[in-house]
Amino acid sequence: MDNAVEEKFKIVVGLEVHVQLLTKTKLFCGCSTKFGLAPNSSTCPVCIGMPGVLPVMNKHAFGLAMKAALAINCTIATYTKWDRKNYYYPDLPKNFQISQYDLPFSSEGHLEIETSLGTRKIGIFRAHLEEDAGKSIHDESGGGSDSKVDLNRTGTPLLEIVSKPDIRSGEEARLYLEELKLLLKELEISDCEMQEGSLRCDANVNIHITMPDGTVAATPIVEVKNLNSFRAVEKSIKYEAQRQYDQFLKDGKRFGEVPKCTAGWDDQKGATIVQRRKEEASDYRYFPEPDLVPVKVTNQVIEQVRAGMGELPSACRERLVKEYSLSRYDSSVLVCQGRKFTSYFEETAKKSGDAKASCNWITNQVLSTLNEQKKEVQDFALSPEMLAGLVTEIAKTGLNMQRAREVYARMLETGEDPKACMDALGFKVVGDVNQIIEIVRKAIAGNPKAVIDFKNGKVKAADAIKGAVMRETKGMAKMETVQEIVMKELADAKDPV
Ligand code: ZN
Ligand code: MN
Repeated sequence: MDNAVEEKFKIVVGLEVHVQLLTKTKLFCGCSTKFGLAPNSSTCPVCIGMPGVLPVMNKHAFGLAMKAALAINCTIATYTKWDRKNYYYPDLPKNFQISQYDLPFSSEGHLEIETSLGTRKIGIFRAHLEEDAGKSIHDESGGGSDSKVDLNRTGTPLLEIVSKPDIRSGEEARLYLEELKLLLKELEISDCEMQEGSLRCDANVNIHITMPDGTVAATPIVEVKNLNSFRAVEKSIKYEAQRQYDQFLKDGKRFGEVPKCTAGWDDQKGATIVQRRKEEASDYRYFPEPDLVPVKVTNQVIEQVRAGMGELPSACRERLVKEYSLSRYDSSVLVCQGRKFTSYFEETAKKSGDAKASCNWITNQVLSTLNEQKKEVQDFALSPEMLAGLVTEIAKTGLNMQRAREVYARMLETGEDPKACMDALGFKVVGDVNQIIEIVRKAIAGNPKAVIDFKNGKVKAADAIKGAVMRETKGMAKMETVQEIVMKELADAKDPV
């Protein structure tokens, strides 16, 4: 983080995230929510907004939304209702969106993120349910001037999660989104594919500047839209905060009542472009949806949903630190790969009896193999038993890392156990201390110059001896043992001159 910049102003960010819920059908009708269907093929009178139709709430969508809300520590309302949000929507023919206004189904939650400065708690105002709009398709590439509309997405259930303005940097915003995505994917609430639009994010950004008299000036809030990756969110916040600071210096005065603005993010230029005055809630003329009954939720149902959630990532991170004595960093690296990955680690650690070594192997070699092979851990060629076997074999024999990686590669290739691979590769570790002492003495006798240098205070001269030993043993001697013996023998060696 740029500390020099941070001192001049404080970045204040709240995020609005829309996620598509993983339901088979839409929020108020039975149309399929499948991505990539032929345009307008998944529509019916309800979702295209014919007059006189009656929406019916999708109970499964509500269940998923409750699960998500509980996972972000929100309180579930026992009574909630639907509202119409009126607006001219080119891709929503009825010109209102069924959403939730003053009585959202959940509120007052938080999400913890792991930052380089430790754990931070980001507050959440509310999470509510609403229907999605369709998609306008503008024929820009073909040079045509016509626009078309695809209503397949219309009525897809969306969960809108509104954070408090607790986010203090672009990096924190990205971490918040990563944590949210992890949580929602693990609980199978949403696939959170930003490219397919199943996770969308707007950032409300302004800055606080401490004035010479000690009071704090706040710049007008700008809502940054059109953010199509977590990186874009991070970069746009950094850019927009600096832009507001530059503007503040130029204006050289306090801001009056400036209305909230909307800005688009141009990823290519790496800049925000301020667009229009933002609507206020009163512009939408919200009113209760007359065609839907309010929803009542019993505490029993809430507890049922909660019981079905399983262990959440934040709890898992804590547990791995406690149970396996991992660092917070290691634990985070494991947990952010998902539940199946974490279980793979736990099984390996239990079977090998060495959590730290297992974690190192898994977060380095295994992870990079999976990335290379574009595989998930459940499809990985080596079972936890096999990997634990390798970890154990390394500890027992003192096989060095380079050789161990060769054994690992052969295990992947042949599926043989670590011992068989070591035999096949001809790796016979020299573990006997007396044998190593003998080899070290021979190396010292053959390197009088190294001994003189060492006696003259050049500690690095010991490397020549170690190198000779490793050559003699074909890299099969335990490095720590060699190190120890070389230093002792060199200290004891007689000056050859
Ligand atoms: Zn429909
Ligand atoms: Mn919304």
